[in-house]
Amino acid sequence: MKKTILRLDDKPRIISKEVTEIDKKTLQIVEDLTETLRTSKRPGVGLAAPQIGEDVRIVVIESEGYTRDNGDIVDAIPRLVLINPKITKFSKDKVIIEEGCLSVPEYLGPVERPAKIKLIALNEKGEKICINSGGFLARVIQHEIDHLDGILFIDLVKDKNKLKKLSELESE
Ligand code: ZN
Repeated sequence: MKKTILRLDDKPRIISKEVTEIDKKTLQIVEDLTETLRTSKRPGVGLAAPQIGEDVRIVVIESEGYTRDNGDIVDAIPRLVLINPKITKFSKDKVIIEEGCLSVPEYLGPVERPAKIKLIALNEKGEKICINSGGFLARVIQHEIDHLDGILFIDLVKDKNKLKKLSELESE
């Protein structure tokens, strides 16, 4: 079912709970995240359970590909379901990419993060998956896992003067 995407920048930062069993409730959240992401008014590439009011460690990433508010092209990403994701390795080299978030609707801002990661998680069948990722996908995965720890990209923008208001971007 399509859910409302919550604003999170004005809410307390909460650490979400591990999924202990992949049961009906877990699969419902995966389905709700998928549908909400696919039907979101603004295009997004990922959604984490806290963004629809569920404090459990579940993330869905998917994109048909689109052009972002800042003009960057986002390539298509096939659906990726991550349950209890854990990044096991971060690369030393870091990159700065401008991020936005469906739960922080007005802003874009530059965030520095490791360029590559290694990750373990469960998929919706309960199978363990290992991912080596770089580029935009590594960025999205880190952003979404941060949601599970109550961290928003605006918390990571070092120079708050670099936060751009989307309404200003539109009028440029
Ligand atoms: Zn987000």
